[in-house]
Amino acid sequence: MSESRQSKWMKAHIAQGLCTQCSEPSVNGIFCLRHFIKRRELMRRIRGSKKRYKGAYSYNLQLAQRTAQTLQAEAMVSGLP
Ligand SMILES: [Zn+2]
Repeated sequence: MSESRQSKWMKAHIAQGLCTQCSEPSVNGIFCLRHFIKRRELMRRIRGSKKRYKGAYSYNLQLAQRTAQTLQAEAMVSGLP
């Protein structure tokens, strides 16, 4: 049985360090941050999780990105005359 076109595309993206959903640079080898979070929330819904493991890699990345965005926004605001 031959490998599907989609499967080849995903493997090529993983080999190049890109997201398998959208071709952005990946953060965990498979997904970009956006799709990493999307997958986490999907799996939470499927499993019916009540608690959140706040030390998990995706939460740390999310927090780091938010902090960077906040600092950038503050720099822009303070940079105005
Ligand atoms: Zn993506």
